[in-house]
Amino acid sequence: MKIESRLAQIGSISEPVTGAVSFPVYQATAFRHPKLGQSTGFDYSRTKNPTRTILEQAIAELESGDAGFACSSGMAALQTIFALFSQGDHLLVSLDLYGGTYRLLEKIMSRFGVTATYVDTDDLDALEANRLPSTKAVLIETPTNPLMMITDIEKVAAWAKTHGLLTIVDNTLLTPFLQRPIELGADVIIHSATKYLGGHNDVLAGLIVTKGKELSEQMAFLHNSIGAVLGPQDSWLLMRGMKTLALRMERHEYNATKISEFLLGHPMVAEVFYPALPDHPGYGVQNRQSSGNTGIFSFKMKDARTIEPILRHIQLIAFAESLGGVESLMTYPAVQTHADIPEEIRRKVGVDDRLLRFSVGIEHVDDLIADLTQAFDAAKAELE
Ligand SMILES: *Cc1c(COP(=O)(O)O)cnc(C)c1O
Repeated sequence: MKIESRLAQIGSISEPVTGAVSFPVYQATAFRHPKLGQSTGFDYSRTKNPTRTILEQAIAELESGDAGFACSSGMAALQTIFALFSQGDHLLVSLDLYGGTYRLLEKIMSRFGVTATYVDTDDLDALEANRLPSTKAVLIETPTNPLMMITDIEKVAAWAKTHGLLTIVDNTLLTPFLQRPIELGADVIIHSATKYLGGHNDVLAGLIVTKGKELSEQMAFLHNSIGAVLGPQDSWLLMRGMKTLALRMERHEYNATKISEFLLGHPMVAEVFYPALPDHPGYGVQNRQSSGNTGIFSFKMKDARTIEPILRHIQLIAFAESLGGVESLMTYPAVQTHADIPEEIRRKVGVDDRLLRFSVGIEHVDDLIADLTQAFDAAKAELE
């Protein structure tokens, strides 16, 4: 069955008693045992909850993996994945990284002796040069946030396999509707489902998908032992969002493409970073490994002084962090999402004080362009 149909039908045939088309919320932590030595398959909701199970089966199947795990946030999912590693282990990680992932690695995992080196994960020479005897995994974001750098997943996963390293892909920005890294050789997928999968700026959640029996069993053990699991209400809300993922992603991509073209031709804009644009360095790889583009991109203004008034004048577009929801949000990475990344690293990757990140929603594209136009005009008038 095509992915659009599978998304729309999540949980729809799974409730055998009443036939409810929307899978119920099992708001229970404990489950009665029929008799000694018997179980319904559910004992205690940290280990397994029926509503969460439907979500976990859905994401595992959508990502072509063997097991899915729903966590209380994307960061909880990352923490659970990082618990695969032990003192002395080393990771190779994408240079232009989500700020929270960088903070978790540098401020917390480092205290437990798990270290990371940040490299351009699309560059095999750089990966090889930074590989240590203690390296255990490569963690890839593609496209990266906010600079939309692309990594060739198949190439890196093949390299990682020859060295016995796990390939972990943060697939938050594209979702399995547009990109399925396990089909390209990855072992572990992580999602901040708070973003496109949930899609409505109203539920915080993380998802993990694993490939392979041993890795899936190991992750199930960590997920239950750490306990940063998703509650049944939020599991249901997330599934509700996922049912419309295909429609939303198509509109996000359409709007983002139109607006990136508009910005590219605007005299106040210096650069636009969006892999749907043919002169983006990752255009070819992105086209090959994904079936479309995300709805978020970044752009650099020519004059840093225009940033403050633009953020003050946008009206329809909200000045807010996060991404991937139906409402358009604009953020200033250097002082918000990426504030925990040291300035030297930020400058090295290009997250500077002229960069704005735009999570394009599903509003009508004409209204979004009109809002940008009036905010740019107002900013220009103030500087004159
Ligand atoms: C938001 C985000 C995270 C963290 O997820 P939360 O749900 O906010 O905890 C991780 N990776 C990427 C790429 C993100 O955008």
